[in-house]
Amino acid sequence: MKIVLVEFHQESNSFNPLPSGIEFFERSGMYEGEAVRAFYGDKPCALAGMLRAIDESGATAIPGCSMFASSGGPVEHGVAEHFLEKSRSIVMANGPVDGVFVSLHGATQTTSEEDCSGYILEAIRGAAGPSAIIAVSTDLHANITDRMMEHADIICGYRTYPHQDHYETGYRAAKLGLACLTDGVKPRMVKAKVPMIVPASGYSTMSGPFAELIRYGEALERSGKLADFSIYQMQPWLDVGDGASAVLAIDRDPKRAESYALELGQRLFDLRKSFRPDLLSVDDVIERAERNRSGKPVVLVDAADSSNAGATGDSVAVVRRLLARGSTLRTAIAVNDSPAADRAFALGVGRTADFTVGGSRYPEMNPPLQVEAYVKSLHDGVFVQEGPAGRGTVQRIGPSAVLQVGNISILVCRQTAGNGDPGLFRAFGIEPTLQELVVVKACGSYKAAYSRMTELIYDADTPGAAAVDLRSLPFRRLPKETYPLSELDGYRVHEIVHARRGR
Ligand SMILES: [Zn+2]
Repeated sequence: MKIVLVEFHQESNSFNPLPSGIEFFERSGMYEGEAVRAFYGDKPCALAGMLRAIDESGATAIPGCSMFASSGGPVEHGVAEHFLEKSRSIVMANGPVDGVFVSLHGATQTTSEEDCSGYILEAIRGAAGPSAIIAVSTDLHANITDRMMEHADIICGYRTYPHQDHYETGYRAAKLGLACLTDGVKPRMVKAKVPMIVPASGYSTMSGPFAELIRYGEALERSGKLADFSIYQMQPWLDVGDGASAVLAIDRDPKRAESYALELGQRLFDLRKSFRPDLLSVDDVIERAERNRSGKPVVLVDAADSSNAGATGDSVAVVRRLLARGSTLRTAIAVNDSPAADRAFALGVGRTADFTVGGSRYPEMNPPLQVEAYVKSLHDGVFVQEGPAGRGTVQRIGPSAVLQVGNISILVCRQTAGNGDPGLFRAFGIEPTLQELVVVKACGSYKAAYSRMTELIYDADTPGAAAVDLRSLPFRRLPKETYPLSELDGYRVHEIVHARRGR
């Protein structure tokens, strides 16, 4: 058996005005052929899980290509075409192949294609032919479109948030895909559409109702009632016509798959109002930090400007409030600000000068701020994530500088990465545990690491392309009949889509 492996990973934020070009992918990594295995084979990622499952089965894995980028604005369409050209030619050159296993984020749009994931799977199906098995792993925040269902046999999503099961998800998808090829009976995959979006900072799988829902699905699986399930909370800043949350259920018995997809979908929908985080104003959080005598840092979660959610990451809203209040809190913050980083390099370490910080990308949302800053240090921007999520991952934030404004340490860089990881500060000489206030621009990924450091973590009501108050955003394409754009009280989950029958 021959299985081709490909990966295209980017999470799009429709409200970010800056398209993600090829340089976003070059920064995070583009690999082809055996270089895919050499780079990802031993990492805790979906491709490694897929490779492991294929190797265990005795089939031949043909690593094709991998293109991975951090979250951002919609992908420049030519980048997706570039990926498809590579993928198609690998499938054709090795044809006929028995399967193509695809690692996707799943909430991706391009500058001309709203449903990039469906577009990719359709093209791969075209190259691989109708009898090949297409097995896909995705993020928990994917948008599972009808077009994806039409062209894939198996789709599996992460079950953890903060995400920690990339490898296990790749392994699950590949195992199920391989079983389609070796078992006589192909399992059936069913999607239940759940018309809701909720902010990613409103839930986690570490505790609370969403964690309990996942545990419930796992119990169904353990007891043999269902072969596999995925519960998707679509990333809510994706403004597309076929956007929705979803539940996927996979089983040999299509009726069972259908009834559990509907049941899990209804349970998810019924929890929607519990997924709203309590937001404090920025000033409230600052006051809590000023009163805090615990010796532990206060974490202000600025999810709205999280580049993990595709926002522009150039907000200095918290710095503005600290300065306006004359606060002396020892504070750490990271800001995407290439011009400020360039200016720091031009001046050199030890110089004090006027700087414009913030608003370098989305000034209408995040107005810039004039400050006098001391250039504390300059860096190449390479650091290793501490984890637990993504431990060991090398991140590159580009030439970067620490600017000191009073007691505020501002890390200015090309593009933050690993925002939920304390290494983003620690690697550049800013020790988070010694701060009184740490601004974390992440949605949920920070919880795994920062909750070990402090329990004083507060979601703040901040501006940004990933605003937590979803009704404040200018949705144009998402169906109006989506919670919370409509209340949908009393709604029953009923829309079912079956995956292709194939083979
Ligand atoms: Zn995600």
